[in-house]
Amino acid sequence: MVVVLGNLNTENITVAGDAMHPTTPDLRQGSCMTLEDAVVLGRHIGNSIGPDGKLRPADLGLALGKYATERRWRAAWIIAASFLSGWVQQDGSGWWTKFLRDMFYKIILTKVISVIQYDCGRLPNRMGIS
Ligand SMILES: Cc1cc2nc3c(=O)[nH]c(=O)nc-3n(C[C@H](O)[C@H](O)[C@H](O)COP(=O)(O)OP(=O)(O)OC[C@H]3O[C@@H](n4cnc5c(N)ncnc54)[C@H](O)[C@@H]3O)c2cc1C
Repeated sequence: MVVVLGNLNTENITVAGDAMHPTTPDLRQGSCMTLEDAVVLGRHIGNSIGPDGKLRPADLGLALGKYATERRWRAAWIIAASFLSGWVQQDGSGWWTKFLRDMFYKIILTKVISVIQYDCGRLPNRMGIS
């Protein structure tokens, strides 16, 4: 809930990695999301650097806001999918759980797996290297 409703950034501070989106290990996406955070954060900060090569404090605040907005629902979805994935595998053998588990593997798992395939974009080429 914190990742959806909480403040993820102030003017010059934000969170990343497990500090932003602690998750159950069932989809093994903790480090992957942390690396995504780094690329997305680097892209927004890099795109905010002015032509003089300087980053104004106000632009940093805007960059952190864009980063938090981009990461919020991605992280929330992975956390929810990871929890669901673990829950159906571990939670009992009653008919309802068996039904949910069958539905999960037949319908939901393919969609859950598809979120792992994710393009977090490219870093800006500030050095002009081709
Ligand atoms: C057993 C296990 C298996 C995992 N398997 C996978 C996997 O297969 N795939 C996957 O994607 N993810 C996996 N993860 C999750 C992954 O390890 C984490 O999501 C990832 O490491 C989070 O990175 P992070 O940089 O946010 O935090 P961390 O890697 O925890 O780094 C935080 C760093 O901050 C340091 N630190 C803490 N407090 C302070 C302080 N006060 N001052 C200075 N430094 C401080 C710590 O020492 C640490 O080095 C696994 C985790 C575990 C525990």
